[in-house]
Amino acid sequence: DPPLDFYDDGLNESIFPDLPPLRHGHPDVHLRDGILAGHALADPDAEPAFFVADLSQVYAQHLRWRACLPQIQPFYAVKCNPDPYVLRLLAALGTGFDCASNGEISQVLAVGGIDPSRIIFANPCKAVSFVRNAARQRVDLMTFDNADELYKIARAHPRAQLVIRILTDDTKSLCQLGIKFGAPLATVPGLLAKASELGLAVVGVSFHVGSGCYDPSVYTDAIARARMAFDMGADAGYRFTLLDVGGGFEDTHFEQAASFLSDAIDMHFPDRGEIKIIAEPGRFYVSKAFNLATNIIARRAPLTDAAVDGAADQPAVMYYINDGVYGAFNCILFDHQVVHPYVLSMGGSFHIAAGEPLHTSSVWGPTCDSIDCVCPMAQLPRALRVGDWLGFPNMGAYTVCAASMFNGFQVSKVVYTTGSFRAAEVRGILAKFAEDIRVLEARDV
Ligand code: PLP
Repeated sequence: DPPLDFYDDGLNESIFPDLPPLRHGHPDVHLRDGILAGHALADPDAEPAFFVADLSQVYAQHLRWRACLPQIQPFYAVKCNPDPYVLRLLAALGTGFDCASNGEISQVLAVGGIDPSRIIFANPCKAVSFVRNAARQRVDLMTFDNADELYKIARAHPRAQLVIRILTDDTKSLCQLGIKFGAPLATVPGLLAKASELGLAVVGVSFHVGSGCYDPSVYTDAIARARMAFDMGADAGYRFTLLDVGGGFEDTHFEQAASFLSDAIDMHFPDRGEIKIIAEPGRFYVSKAFNLATNIIARRAPLTDAAVDGAADQPAVMYYINDGVYGAFNCILFDHQVVHPYVLSMGGSFHIAAGEPLHTSSVWGPTCDSIDCVCPMAQLPRALRVGDWLGFPNMGAYTVCAASMFNGFQVSKVVYTTGSFRAAEVRGILAKFAEDIRVLEARDV
């Protein structure tokens, strides 16, 4: 077959002129085409690894959110993946945004058409200059969990609308946040008294059960604690109107989490007429939407007795691929992920024969550091060679955003597709949003 020109096959759509083209079709097609394009670059040892982002998966997760938690407005946690298309799609769908820094606030506002009231500055420990910048940008909603933060805010952003972040049980999560953030309930009355003394407006309560929560029953206790904090607010003379249930939502436990949350909210906030409820989901929205294709750049047998003896529980082959823990797979170190490769091509072919014998292998990143191990144990076919491709699913959360260029390796680029689930709807939503921004910008001029 003549090689496809991956970057210009006539299917591109430039809905946002400053972004890479948005492609039609199923992500698997783009994984395959991207691989072919790599070969077409005529440098068979240097095909770059690349992500394929399926925006329809982000849309699907949003519909799932709306079906299960219609009373909770998601404020997408930008830190999880500040991808420009993801931000635009979510902006078009009407979500808010959880930002942790000046940089994230700028990124969200630079999209255009997003009012600063759709941002919560959900970092309880901010540099004063960041608080001042938030005031300048008219980002008023922000969290705190300590008294110094109150002094800073009183000085740099006295009009802020404050949300007290309380400590809740995070022991059932991959990434525990309570060792760093969250006011224990016992400290809440004192903090609210200080806020009141400084003349600050505290408008609500937030918590975070930890990122990647695998036992969503913890939301029940967290909501009970938030209720207590609401009552402490009333004692301090505040009338809270915002409940922020944070992030932690995990794809496989989402429906269960929604059910625990909804029941607890109904129990502890039965008459919640004027209370707005928001959340800060990150990984739930993007994890499934990104696949990573990596090229096997080297292969060797480990020179251990076990490998020579062919012991079943020891890797018999080491594969080296062109992205690693200093790049997209930083999620292994920082986000406690275990990743699982699948075979995209074998012996240069996309036809993967069923029943191909597997052997225990290890998969390594491209840098010269031995910590750069992607999978210490993976079952992979014997027929894999240098030049073949391995795919990795669920690579959208806490991956590309924290990738470095250590050792001079490039951060893997993203190819975008509207995917196969209601693709026309996704394109329509983005096109309308782009048009709305153009109208707004024209009006500003
Ligand atoms: N909100 C805050 C304040 C966070 O720190 C995080 C993650 O660290 C999130 C939301 C997103 O969490 P998740 O991706 O688990 O939904």
